[in-house]
Formats: sequence, structure tokens, C-alpha cells
Amino acid sequence: MSQIKAIEGRSVHQIQSGQVISDGLCSAVKELVENSIDAHATSIEVKFKNHGLELIEITDNGDGITPDNFDKLALKHYTSKLRTYEDLERVTTYGFRGEALSSLCALSNLFVTTATAGVAPKGTKIEFHTSGVLKSTSVMSHPRGTTVSVETLFKNLPVRKQELERNIKREFARVVSFLQAYAIVCVGVKFTVYNHPPNGKKTLLFSTKANKTTKENIANVFGAKALANLIPLDLDFEMTASNSILNRNRDDTRKVKIIGHISRPVVGEGRQAPDRQLFFVNSRPCNLPQVARAINEVYKSYNLTQSPFVFADLQLDTTAYDVNVSPDKRTILLHDQANLLESLKVSLTELFDNSEQTVPVGIQS
Ligand code: ADP
Ligand code: MG
Repeated sequence: MSQIKAIEGRSVHQIQSGQVISDGLCSAVKELVENSIDAHATSIEVKFKNHGLELIEITDNGDGITPDNFDKLALKHYTSKLRTYEDLERVTTYGFRGEALSSLCALSNLFVTTATAGVAPKGTKIEFHTSGVLKSTSVMSHPRGTTVSVETLFKNLPVRKQELERNIKREFARVVSFLQAYAIVCVGVKFTVYNHPPNGKKTLLFSTKANKTTKENIANVFGAKALANLIPLDLDFEMTASNSILNRNRDDTRKVKIIGHISRPVVGEGRQAPDRQLFFVNSRPCNLPQVARAINEVYKSYNLTQSPFVFADLQLDTTAYDVNVSPDKRTILLHDQANLLESLKVSLTELFDNSEQTVPVGIQS
């Protein structure tokens, strides 16, 4: 039998990094935008060259990074956001595993330019080895904040790179809708998103204006017409928390608040397809297929032929769900999901019944 040996450290790093950046372009962009939001940015500019194949560059006006952190920035499992496993229960930042920059270092040419309030515009450009170890720093002017540049994603994983190139149209469309979700949910943050195609001019894909409301953000992203048929989604209910794993404080009920916007449940006022349905838990964009199904089901009992526009942010206690389920943190495990869905349906039906001109399908003539 051949000997069992540990995989070389460098290779382990590359193998695992491919998993963190599981979704290629989407994961890379998502991680970087989340870092900017975690750094309290109020302006985030995302620039793609050749749809991100050549370059993804994110510039924010956030806190910036202090020199004592330069050498730890891209080391695996180094984070400023969480110290212990118990902290996970209360995590309110988007990031917490300290894996993104380290993974991007292993998969691309990554460099960071940053300046903090005290030193701007005298910033520092930081370069790293593939392992995430600091390679060099040099002086480079930069306003307060951080620019992260990712060149040639998957440069050393030829199969992943080719797959990304083959599917770039679809992948890019997904990235843009990802960014739209953040741009809508992050009030007070101005988003600007550009692409620079290989033989064309730099084009603005969309932008928001640091608005105070998600409604204004929706108008910036999808156009003012998108607001015409929307009603405020504002559900407030209590649900039983019988099976909660984390129910250590022995509370039997949980307060749930769902806020956002939804199409009026009136025939002709929905959308042809369920193409604009954005779900969040405490402002974290995520996939909530069961919640989506419940909302669509209720909507269909008023409007059989169309689907609603949905922007729904579930505001839950941080102990009521677990985000540490999938590498991209988009899958969220909701404790007591069945109870939540039941209460949600009742509460949404009430909202629709009380909104003007709505008639459940069975009663329509
Ligand atoms: P995580 O977000 O899980 O902490 P990352 O690898 O994404 O891990 O980032 C590592 C650390 O680098 C962060 O904890 C943060 O301190 C710092 N950082 C990354 N991006 C930025 C940014 N845009 N502005 C300020 N600090 C940043
Ligand atoms: Mg992060």
C-alpha cells in the first residue's frame, strides 16, 4: 500500500480556495463588495474589464486598512470580524471566515491599495505571494478607503478559467443581479458599476445615489416605472420557536419582521416571470427558496397569471438562523422554518386583503 502523507501546504491552500470562490466571478465580486460594506463604505465603485475576465476592481471610501494589518490581510483565517466560534451566533458583518482575500490570492493576481483617514491621500499599494504572505508595499496615492484589484481570476486553474470564459455572458448577468441586490438593500451607499469590454467603451451598467430608502434604490436600479405597482411589504408577527436548536433562553416565541416591497396582488400589475425576486436575512442577500415559494403561492391566489416583484428583508434575531452553511453564505438555515412559513402566509394574506382593489381569485367574476 502506498504511504498516507499530508498534502503539501501550498496545494491545500489552492484546493480549498477553489471552493471558497465556488461560484467563480459571483463569489469573488460578492466577497469584495461585502468587505467594502463591512468597512462602512458609503460609496462603492465596481469596475469590470472584459466582464471581469481580465480585471475586477472594487474601490470604496470605507475605513481603509492600517499598516499593522498589511501582513495579515490575505492570510487564511485572519479576520478582524470574529474571534471565536461563539461569536458566530451574533455575527452581523457579511464576512467572518477570513478566507476571501486569501483565496483570491491563490487564484489570481491580487493587489490592494488603501489609505486610512489619518494618512490619505498618501496610500499604500500592497502585493502578496500566492500563499497570501505579504510580498511588497509601495507608496501610492489613494483617497481614504480601499481598492482591491483581481487580475485574471483562475489564472492557475485552466479548467475553471475556460468554463468561466465559456459561460461569461450568463455569469456576468448573474453578477450584475447580485450587485443590484446589494445596491438596493444598502441604503446610504452609492453604488456605481461599470464594464469595459475588450474593444469598446467603458459603459455604466447602473448606479444608485446613496439614497435614504430602498424604494429610491429600486427606482435607480430598475427605473422609476418599477415602482408603479408596488405596495410596502410590512409584516410583523410572532411565531413559536419550539424546535430551535439555539433556543437557550427558553423563549417560546420569536418576533419576525419582514419589510420590503411587493407587487400589488392585482391582475396586470405583477410581472410575467418571477425574475425580480430578491430575498435577504438582516440585509444579507440569500437564497430562500421556501420563503419565495410561500410568497408566490399567496400571490397566485390573487393573481393567477403573473408573479410578483419581491424585495423582502427578513429581520430576525441572529440566533434564529445559521449562515455558516455554505461556502458562499447564500444558503441560510432558518430555525423553525415550517412555523415561520405558516405565519408568513397568514400575515401576507392579511396584508393583501387589506390592500385596495384586491380580490382573491375564487371571488373574481
Ligand atoms: P473576512 O471578511 O471574513 O474578515 P476577508 O479575507 O474578506 O475576510 O478579509 C480579511 C480582512 O481584511 C477583513 O477582516 C478586514 O479587516 C480586511 N479588509 C478586507 N477588505 C477590506 C476593505 N475593503 N476595507 C477595509 N478592510 C478590508
Ligand atoms: Mg470578507
